[in-house]
Amino acid sequence: MNNSSWFSQISFKQKIWLFSILAGILVIMAFGLFLSPPGELKETANFNIGMSIQNIAPKLGVTSKGLARELNLPLNISKNKPLNSLGVTGEELHHAVEHILSHRDSKFKYYIYVVLALWGFLFLVRLGRPDGSDIKNRRNWYPRTPYIISLLFSVIVAGFLLGKSPNPMEAIVKVFKSMVGLYPDPMAKVAAFAFFIILAIIGNKIICGWVCPFGALQELVYSIPILRKIKKRKLLFVFTNTIRICLFIVMLLFMFGIIGGRRGFVIYHYLNPFNLFNLDFETFSIVLTVIIALLVSSIAYRPFCQFICPFGLISWIAERFSIFRVQIDKEKCVQCGICIKACPLEAVEGRVNRKRLPADCFSCARCLNVCPNDALKYTTIFKK
Ligand code: SF4
Ligand code: SF4
Repeated sequence: MNNSSWFSQISFKQKIWLFSILAGILVIMAFGLFLSPPGELKETANFNIGMSIQNIAPKLGVTSKGLARELNLPLNISKNKPLNSLGVTGEELHHAVEHILSHRDSKFKYYIYVVLALWGFLFLVRLGRPDGSDIKNRRNWYPRTPYIISLLFSVIVAGFLLGKSPNPMEAIVKVFKSMVGLYPDPMAKVAAFAFFIILAIIGNKIICGWVCPFGALQELVYSIPILRKIKKRKLLFVFTNTIRICLFIVMLLFMFGIIGGRRGFVIYHYLNPFNLFNLDFETFSIVLTVIIALLVSSIAYRPFCQFICPFGLISWIAERFSIFRVQIDKEKCVQCGICIKACPLEAVEGRVNRKRLPADCFSCARCLNVCPNDALKYTTIFKK
């Protein structure tokens, strides 16, 4: 796709939009930097095993139970005894503290997420398709270059520069962790989750398609133009979604101690690919998850999102309420199937065939410039 022709095709009004957004983004970033310097996560704490759990936990922003869980101690262990009397070594304490600190949210990163979502949203709704452009020029609509740049920005800035937290996957897990008493501020965790899910609802899963750093990394690998024949074969949604749902149920059963007997145990912890952004591979299963997800991404669309991610699952449910999304004009659609081929999932197929629960749509825009009858648009549900 020719990017320069896209820019020359967009109207003066759309160019003004574009520059206003860029200026707005710069202002938001400057404001975010002022409020919360990225260095805040570098804070270190000077704790030792002569101290008790209840001395240390509040300083780390977790409950005593939360620290006990990190130290692999029973949640009901005595919280006022020195840690060395509970058999905790200095190394174990150091590891637990590092791990808890790595999960502290960077406020600045929330601004970056807003900026990326806003940019993706405006690209899909306003900028991707030049005003009044003829359907014959549709191949110039929604050029890939701005999307790829946006994904790279997400991986580099929201991922490697700002570290793993906050991220959508952890946001939902932290809500459940606070429900079993591992965090002292359940409402703050609910608010963080609400932040992500609201963005997912405004623009259909836009937080996954345009913002999430690990989603972006998988999307970039998938976009490498190799193994195209294999990529044409899609994973069966009923299969991937069943695994994702089962994993979520198993997570809840472990989390609430219904199986395993260790309340607060988080299975996603062992599959968390966001650790990549802190270069923190604390278990072999995490290394394996990252390697497999990225390798499989070269032949299948976002395997981690499709098979594992709990936020992927919840935001798939939330797609029913999305305000802006890919809409199909039933009167113009002749069911030729061109958009179905363009979509890397069964998402557009489910919509064309009017399925009640179609596959996740990541708002990737691949289907938006292929329809010869102009039957597909990314628009509000109020405008059919
Ligand atoms: S589903 Fe994928 S893109 Fe969405 S939060 Fe999970 S890892 Fe990120
Ligand atoms: S190609 Fe599929 S996933 Fe991408 S925007 Fe279209 S329907 Fe959604």
